[in-house]
Amino acid sequence: MTIQTPSFDALMEITARPPIVFVRGEGAWLWDDSGRRYLDFVQGWAVNCLGHAPALVADALAEQAGLLLTPSPAFYNAPAIALAEALVAQSCFDRVFFTNSGAEAIEGAIKLARKYGALHRGGAHEIITFDGGFHGRTLAAMSASGKKAFEPLFEPKVSGFPKARLNDLESVKALIGNRTVAVMLEPIQGEAGVRPATVEFLQALRALTSAHGLLLVVDEIQTGIGRTGTLFAYEQAVITPDLMTIGKGIGGGVPLGALLATEAASCFEHGDQGGTYNGNPLMCAVGVAVLRQIGRPAFLRAVREAGEFLRSELQRLSARHGLGEVRGRGLLLALDLQRPIGGAVLAQARQGGLLLNAPRPDALRFMPALDVTRDEIAAMISILDGVLGDVLGGVAAP
Ligand SMILES: *Cc1c(COP(=O)(O)O)cnc(C)c1O
Repeated sequence: MTIQTPSFDALMEITARPPIVFVRGEGAWLWDDSGRRYLDFVQGWAVNCLGHAPALVADALAEQAGLLLTPSPAFYNAPAIALAEALVAQSCFDRVFFTNSGAEAIEGAIKLARKYGALHRGGAHEIITFDGGFHGRTLAAMSASGKKAFEPLFEPKVSGFPKARLNDLESVKALIGNRTVAVMLEPIQGEAGVRPATVEFLQALRALTSAHGLLLVVDEIQTGIGRTGTLFAYEQAVITPDLMTIGKGIGGGVPLGALLATEAASCFEHGDQGGTYNGNPLMCAVGVAVLRQIGRPAFLRAVREAGEFLRSELQRLSARHGLGEVRGRGLLLALDLQRPIGGAVLAQARQGGLLLNAPRPDALRFMPALDVTRDEIAAMISILDGVLGDVLGGVAAP
């Protein structure tokens, strides 16, 4: 088969992509149009929680596609009801609004918090967020993010997102005033290089927000749906947030997200929120199948075990090559490279048939499928070991 060099000119240039076209995926593996196979530890940015093209997702899509695609968001449908009930049963929340992406769930959280402020807090609308935080790419989500690179972009931003410092309660206290309605954070900052909020900080934040009558919003778009070894990361801090956003993993590879709220915080009135595809049965049917699988205690136990194995292997690699700490929980881990070689490691790993992510030039992030096997982890470590040896100049310590 002759392979033409593809032209990428019809696509908007929004990021530097390698000149590879992927055509097929299965589990931990991706194939490009030349038949080359890659071991994938990116998985669509922590999206494909059951790996590439799992049968469970294909079956749910096929079955639902033959039944009902979209009756209109103005009518109820069975998969949306089933998925909302399953999410409510397995979390501390009472109400669910489905979205088509994570950023849209964040928009919903911002709107719901502002509505709450209008109804209960004399028009308070400010939401305290954090340096290094990432909440998505809509204008309000970028405004809420604490990413330095976003600061000069698309001015004027949406106002009302003062930034505190993660794991620094005093920096939050200093920002609370009569315009404050909520505090929003990721339990582990993903894009910032896998920076966990400590359990003590999350508990203190819950106490502080409760004392001031503020909403606590957890953005679990990356940490939720089993990624950190429990269904949701907030469980590990034994706190009850008021709002939560999810995305990525809940769709197992298809576009699905949600905003969840406790009954007391769920204050939208008719006309406040909606969207053509929100809660469509096709995507919700996939969510039902994914959650049924991930929510099993034995599945989550296996995630924790795989996470511990990956962590110990990364620590071994770090010691061997004189690198830094391994951060994160479950199967959301980062290896601190302590030098800006992330880009070189990524490029070299890709040459060796391994796909990795570097959220910062000095850190590698690992977000494999949640059902990744020990053999796949060992294969990844073996390739990365060689790559690190090459990039660091072949001077790995014994
Ligand atoms: C990916 C992500 C988002 C944005 O989700 P999209 O589906 O890309 O809009 C928001 N918050 C966090 C923590 C994320 O990881």
